[in-house]
Amino acid sequence: MALKHVVEVERCKGCGLCVIVCAKKVLEISETVSAKGYSPVFQARPDDCVKCTLCCIMCPDVAITIIETDKEEMEVN
Ligand code: SF4
Ligand code: SF4
Repeated sequence: MALKHVVEVERCKGCGLCVIVCAKKVLEISETVSAKGYSPVFQARPDDCVKCTLCCIMCPDVAITIIETDKEEMEVN
C-alpha cells in the first residue's frame, strides 16, 4: 500500500500557507484559475514529497489530503 498526496483544486483558495510550510518546496501556486476564481496550489516537485502531512494540517480549507492507494504513482488532482 502506497500513500498518495491529493490536492482538491476546487477547495483551494490559493492562500499559499501550504507552500510556506513545506520544507521540501514541493508546492507552488498555479497560474491557472479555478472555477471559483482562485489560483490553486499544485505539486511542482511531486518526487520530493515525503508525505509528512504538514500541508494537510496547515490548510484552512482541507484541500490537501494524503490517502492510501494500491498504486505507486502520485497524481495531482
Ligand atoms: S506532505 Fe509534506 S513534503 Fe509533501 S507537500 Fe505536504 S508539506 Fe510538503
Ligand atoms: S493552504 Fe489550502 S487553500 Fe491555501 S494554497 Fe494550500 S491547499 Fe490551497
